[in-house]
Order: sequence, then C-alpha cells, then structure tokens
Amino acid sequence: MQKNTETLQLQYIKGVGPKRAEILAAEGILTPKDLLMYFPRSYIDRNTASTLKSLCHNLINENLFEKNVSEINLSADFKFKSEITVIGNIVKKKEHQFGRGRRMLSLEITDGSGSKAKVIFWNSVNYFIQIYSTGQLLAISGKAELDKGKKVQFTHPEIEIIHPEDEKLYREGKIIPKYKVTEAMARVGLNIRLVRQIIASVIDEEINFIRETLPDWLLEKNNFPTLAESVKQLHFPDTPEALLKSRYRLKFEELFYYEISIALKRRKYVNLENGVVIPPKSSRARKLYDSLPFRLTGDQKKVLREIANDFESGRPMNRLLQGDVGSGKTIVSALSMLMAVDAGFQVVIMAPTEILAEQHTSTLGKFFDGLDVEIVQLLGGQKAQLRREILKLIESGKANVIIGTHAVFQAEVSYNKLGFIVIDEQHRFGVEQRAALIGLGKKSHDSEQGSNLLSPHVLVMTATPIPRTLKLTFYGDLDVSVIREMPIGRKPVTTKVAFESKLPEVYEFIKSEIRKGHQAYIVYPLVEKSEKIELKSAVEHYEKLSAEVFPEFSCGLLHGQMLWYEKEDAMKAFLNKEYQILISTTVIEVGIDVPNATMMLIENAERFGLSQLHQLRGRVGRSSAQSYCVLMTKDHFKYQLRNKAVKEEERKASVIRLRTMEDTTDGFEISEVDLKLRGPGDLLGTKQSGLPDFKFADLIRDTEIIELARDEAFALIKSDPHIRRPENLLLRKAYIKYSKANDNFFDIA
Ligand code: ADP
Ligand code: MG
Repeated sequence: MQKNTETLQLQYIKGVGPKRAEILAAEGILTPKDLLMYFPRSYIDRNTASTLKSLCHNLINENLFEKNVSEINLSADFKFKSEITVIGNIVKKKEHQFGRGRRMLSLEITDGSGSKAKVIFWNSVNYFIQIYSTGQLLAISGKAELDKGKKVQFTHPEIEIIHPEDEKLYREGKIIPKYKVTEAMARVGLNIRLVRQIIASVIDEEINFIRETLPDWLLEKNNFPTLAESVKQLHFPDTPEALLKSRYRLKFEELFYYEISIALKRRKYVNLENGVVIPPKSSRARKLYDSLPFRLTGDQKKVLREIANDFESGRPMNRLLQGDVGSGKTIVSALSMLMAVDAGFQVVIMAPTEILAEQHTSTLGKFFDGLDVEIVQLLGGQKAQLRREILKLIESGKANVIIGTHAVFQAEVSYNKLGFIVIDEQHRFGVEQRAALIGLGKKSHDSEQGSNLLSPHVLVMTATPIPRTLKLTFYGDLDVSVIREMPIGRKPVTTKVAFESKLPEVYEFIKSEIRKGHQAYIVYPLVEKSEKIELKSAVEHYEKLSAEVFPEFSCGLLHGQMLWYEKEDAMKAFLNKEYQILISTTVIEVGIDVPNATMMLIENAERFGLSQLHQLRGRVGRSSAQSYCVLMTKDHFKYQLRNKAVKEEERKASVIRLRTMEDTTDGFEISEVDLKLRGPGDLLGTKQSGLPDFKFADLIRDTEIIELARDEAFALIKSDPHIRRPENLLLRKAYIKYSKANDNFFDIA
C-alpha cells in the first residue's frame, strides 16, 4: 500500500527514514520539536542507583507493622518506592528443570557492593536464555523481594542490557537517559540507543533555534538555565545538579503560567467587581455574641475580623474557611450572617445534603431565636405549593436566611438583595455551582450603577484540611482563613487500632461508656453483605448487636439506603438520647453534632480512606468529656501485609492510614499524609477540579517551586497587570500560547 510519506518530516533525520518516521508519527512524534519534547522517562546513573547491599538492608528492615509511621519513609517517594532500579553484571546464568517440563532461568547479578541479586524468569525461558549472557551489564527495574535465604530477588523485572559503549560512559559516571520505547518502535529497530542518537542529532541541529520563553530578568533573578540549556540537560545531563536545575526551571515555568492565570482571575474580581457593602456594626450579631455560653477562640475572632474587613471593603469576598471538624465554624458564619441581615441583605446557605441543611436550620434557628430573623428552607423534594410560598418569601425579601441544597442555585429562584453566600463542605460542590449562585446573587441587586451589578460575598467552609500545595493551586483564587485552635476544654480523641479478637473487650468498654451516660457510634463500611468481600454489614450487625451484645441498651440503625426522613428520624432519636448506640454506615460522616457521643467503633477500618476516617472520628470528641475511637481490623490483617492478592502499595497504605490515625488528631497533618498516599487527582478529582495536567510539576512534592511560581506570578500581575511592558513581551506571547493550548509551550523559530 502506498502511503503519503512526504509529510513525514522526521524521515530525513539520520537514522530515521520513512518507515521509522511513520511509526514515530503514530506515537505522536511528528516534528523535531516533538522529539525534543520526548523527554527521558528515567536515567541510568551510577550516582543515584541503589546498591544491592543497601537494597538488601532496606528490605530486611521493612517489617512495617512493627514500625511507627514516622519511621516509614513518607517524605520522598513512598508511593513509587516499590519499583527499584539496580545496575549490575551477570556473573552466573543457570537453567533449572522442574517436574512436568517446567523450566526456570536464573541470573546472578553483582554490582561490587558485596551483595548479590537473583533475577528469575519463568516464562519465555528460551528467549531469555538467548539474549542474556554472563558479563553483560544490566539495568534492572522492578519490585525487589527477599528470597528464603534473605537474598534480593527480582522476578520478570524490566531489564535493559547496557551496551558495551554505554557501559564505558556509565563507569565514567555519565548519566544515561532512558526513553520509552514502545513495541512498535522496537520492531522497526528504534531501540533506546537509536532514539538517543536521533535526539542527540536533533539537539545539535535545533538547539540554537529554541526560543526562550522566560524574560531575562526572571532568568537572572532566579538563576535559571535558558530553555535551550534546560532541554539539552534534560536529555543529556552533564551532572545530576544540572539535571535538577533544568527540571526545576521547567517545573517552575509550567506552574508560573498556571499561577499567572490565577493571578489574573483574582485581579478581575478583586479590582473590577463591586462588592456589597456590609458594615460590621450589627445589633443582632452583638446580641448573639453576648448570649453565647462560651467565648470565641482567638482563631474564631481572627476569622470574624477578616470577614468583617471584606464585608466593608467594597470588594466581593471570596474566602475559604478551613477548620477541623468541631473547631466552631458554624458560629463564626452565623455572626457574619447577622451582619448581612442587619445591613438589609439576604443570606444563602448551601449544604451538600438535606440532612445537613436541616441541621443548619435547627442550629441557626436556635442561634437566631428572638432576633427576628426569617429562615426558610429550600430542598429538592418539597411539594409544589410549599415551594411556591417559599419562593415568594424569598422574592419579596421577607426571608432573610435561605438554607438549602442544590435547589438554591436553580434559575427559578429569584433573590432579593442577596448579599452573602455561605457554602458548607465545599468539596462536594464544583466551581460552576458556586458561579451559578453568584450570578443569581448579582441579578438580585438593582443595577443602579449601570451594568456593573453588585457581587455578593462568598464564604466557603470546609472541614477537609487542604494541604498547602493544593491551597496554592486549586484554591489559588480564594483568600484563606484557618481555624486551627480548638475550643478550650476539648480533649483529643484517644485512638487505638485493635484486632478483632479484642472485640469482646471493646464491647465491654462501650458498655462502660454508656453507663456513664454517654453514647456510642458503631460504623460499618457497607450496607448489604457483598459476596466478594466478606465485610460486615450494618443491617446484619444491627440485628445481632441489639439482640445479643447490647440487649440492655437501645440501638438505632442508620444507613444510606434509608429514606431521608427515616435517616432524619434515626438521627433525631440518637440526638435525643432515645438510642444509646447508633449503628451506622458512613452516612454519619459529615456534620452530625451529638456532643454526648464519646465512643466510636469503626469496623474494617483498613477499608476506609484517611480523610474519611478523620471525618468519622470528628463525630466524637465534641464536648469536654474524653472520647475514644477504636479502629477495628481483622486479626489476619497482620498476615494480610504479606498477602500477595492485595497490592503491596495498598497493604502499606492501609497500615499507614491506621497508624496516622493513632498518632495524630491534627487534620492538617492527616491531610498531608493523605495527599502523599493518594495524590492530588484522587483527593480533588482532577477531572472536575479544572487543574491542568502538569507535565513536569508534581503537586505533592514541589511545594517550594509552587510557592516561588506563585510569588513571581502575583508580583508580575501586580506590576504589569496586562503583561504589556516591553521586557515582558516574550512572556505575553508564551502565556497566550499557554492559555490556548495548556501544554507544548515552547517553540522553535
Ligand atoms: P464545625 O462546624 O467547625 O465542625 P461547629 O461549629 O459545629 O464545628 O462547633 C462544634 C461545637 O462546638 C458546637 O456545639 C458549637 O456550639 C461549639 N463551639 C463552637 N465554638 C466554641 C467555643 N469557642 N467554645 C466552646 N464551644 C464552641
Ligand atoms: Mg459544621
């Protein structure tokens, strides 16, 4: 078949030709620039490869369960640690025969460190016998294990035979780039060495034509290498330091553009929009403040001041209020709401579930009692008649505070001078939903100042502690207030991991807590018994526990399959102490406030995510009484650590989750560990979060670079808001390109 090969630019490069160019094109590599962007996946580097001796040592000392979290290396590359690269020579090659014609090939490897490793092949033995021979130098990447004799062993790892010429480079301490070679590429002879050669010649040709994208002043100030130099070093590093520096620059650059986009967004609402003006003086807020049975913590007061300043500023507030469960965010928002109401504005509170909306209604109802505040609820399933009445109250301005779920940002709701929006538990709402509500708010003001409508203030409250790096990126356009200080008298929840054989003791402990007049939660992961995984189900256990274990107490049941009013009833009954024990699935995760509950037993705790465990535990420890949380896990969980059916990462991660819960109640610390375990995408759902896919930058580890990029970007937009100064011309071009394409941000003249 004749193909049009003229378009294949790369075919004229030495060593390529039409056939290989076609394969490269199929991989998305069409131009010299694409080749330059085809960065190595890793490097063979004598300076950083681990020796067999240290590897062996690490493996022997890796009995996780006896260890403390702090000793487990979370800092660097915990998640990817299980893949390890070693480099060594084959000193022995042996074929083994077993019964029924089963064969195995083993290679013995040494690296001069005094330890040996074995590489085992069970499949394609004939093939591997052919390609490996003693004396060859191999780069071996894969999961290392200890065999019975405590020797390091790899089974079917990824292996690269290092060419004798490269071996010389390697011995000299040169860093050798490793490129991804697909099967199709290998078939046409595009092996790693050839890819390297081709890229080397492209660099020679093109290096002087790579256009710089960062302005001189920025390069000088931060001592960054040029783009051309960075590209070259990334492919062929002179030294590990030069490689790091170049990578740093590329990470910076991509974060810098992203932070510019945030700085511009922020500038837009900070400078260009008119905010509702709400004076801090408020007789209603004063009355509530004076009637509180407790004093606000320093952090609560600080946040209140920050909100009051925004209210008065004439600019719309866009603030994220972060505070652990039980830190007292609600009262802070309530006082702010009263300021808005006193100034004649409406307030909307958006909650993620009806239960939480109801709880807000009841809490605020109590706070606002006697203050002449009209509260209405806007929920999904309301009858048409009731709905119409509520909408009328909202439209006429009679309703001061509107509490609801998603219903509050539907277009049919017509607000009357909406001045303040409070969003609870942010992570369940997307950016668009926030925007929709703000839009309705703007519409609710008369356009006295022409087309420039007043913008309502927005306060987003979350109990999910947000790691610093994400705060600077995902939440980069919000101001952040933090309540770190817990109300006085709160004792941290005592947390213990326990194995199932201790269950009778735990039950006894629950009974003793209840006899003191307290209440307890027992939490299960699933409602119905799943056939695959033998997990305890709440329903099944409710029956057993209430009849056999706690016959003298009254138990309630709460799970996700119940209708909302049934859930509601169960929770109310628990709150009113009709139940002493609430047996539940994770539906209690968010928001329920029963200060009298001091005990929580979480079954199959290894199955829960870290932030979920933290949220669950936040349901106890809400009064001055000491609270307890028991994380129950199976006896054979210890054994499970060695159970190959579960992925190693997951096994380690579950241990780390449980240990972290035992070690700390600080949500911020917990969130940092969680971020390391799960990665930012999982934490936020990258797809919906609108975060770009960073090619170089790592949102978990690159905190320092993120901060630098943010500082530089914000300073730039401050001094040159439209990126128009002559010295920033380059930047302007690059940024425009970036904002269009979001990747591939450098260009060749
Ligand atoms: P959050 O919403 O942050 O999880 P809440 O606002 O529900 O926390 O507060 C938890 C409990 O602590 C509530 O019962 C609240 O009335 C109480 N509380 C709030 N602030 C204080 C304080 N400064 N001192 C004592 N109790 C407080
Ligand atoms: Mg709350």
